[in-house]
Amino acid sequence: MIKPQVVKAATCILCGPVQSKIVARGDSFGYQSADLVRCPKCNLWWIDPLPSSIQIKEFYPPHYYGIENKKFPEYLEIFVRLFCRLRMKKAASLLNPGGRRVLDIGCGRGQSLKILSQYGYECYGTELSAFAARAASSVPQARIFTQSLLDCHFPDRFFDLVLMWHVLEHLPNPKEVIGEIFRILTPGGTLLLCVPNIESIQARLSGRRWFHLDLPRHLYHYSPSALRGLLARCGFHIIRCHTFSIEQGPFGLLQSILNQIGFPQDGLYRMLHRTLPDNTFSFLSRLAQMGIFLISMPLMIWLCGLFSLLGQGGVIDIQAQKPAEARKVRHP
Ligand SMILES: [Zn+2]
Repeated sequence: MIKPQVVKAATCILCGPVQSKIVARGDSFGYQSADLVRCPKCNLWWIDPLPSSIQIKEFYPPHYYGIENKKFPEYLEIFVRLFCRLRMKKAASLLNPGGRRVLDIGCGRGQSLKILSQYGYECYGTELSAFAARAASSVPQARIFTQSLLDCHFPDRFFDLVLMWHVLEHLPNPKEVIGEIFRILTPGGTLLLCVPNIESIQARLSGRRWFHLDLPRHLYHYSPSALRGLLARCGFHIIRCHTFSIEQGPFGLLQSILNQIGFPQDGLYRMLHRTLPDNTFSFLSRLAQMGIFLISMPLMIWLCGLFSLLGQGGVIDIQAQKPAEARKVRHP
């Protein structure tokens, strides 16, 4: 784990004023003045002070979302689509009988909504990037909002299922957003949520070089207990929580190891991403990273499975439910 160094007075959204530990610094996109701090009570991590909404926009250039609706080479996009389809099939199976209305928060290019619309569900998405939202808008019969969730003002008890896939860590106001999701879900409705796991073995081993640390884009980092606490605070019941993701875990582990043993920070990811510059790598460096990637992925998958059995896989994947007899809407 990143070694706590200096204590700083800060306010945890769950515990109030605390003496937090400074554990790292945000140091990219010109945003250099913030500390990554950790609450000693609930183990929630966040950037302090949080950047302004204008600064946050600078963190997401258009190429962040890929070009022509694709982020990676076609041979990897096949796996991206396959994993997404499996995830959506499972999500659809969790809908209550008669449930038909689905919201994907931070829907990106609309891949999940495309699959859910094929199943016949009434699909809604929010996406702040106009670039990505344009691609999502091509999904038949999906309604895409280029606003934050709080600005959409959906009616009470409107959605049967809400998805938030690797989005919560990017938001500066997670408690308000989770409270809003609780309000707009039908009683008995389901929230599916996935974020990186700051207490994972890959995070502990690679520290500041952890692939999913991603400062300063990731404004909050969660331990399983902190995320459970946040959801419970807003009224949710936790139905299921695990730490395995074949999409995020093995690659995150491999990239973190490569970062740690001296390869360029996130170099493999930048090589595989279609729009990020990779011309700083020599031919030998590219060959070595690609060779390690192709040979070691089975081992990474096996290791991630093992770490997940210990509850310390690379992500926190949670299924939460608004109780069927939910009390009046609670504003955190
Ligand atoms: Zn706290």
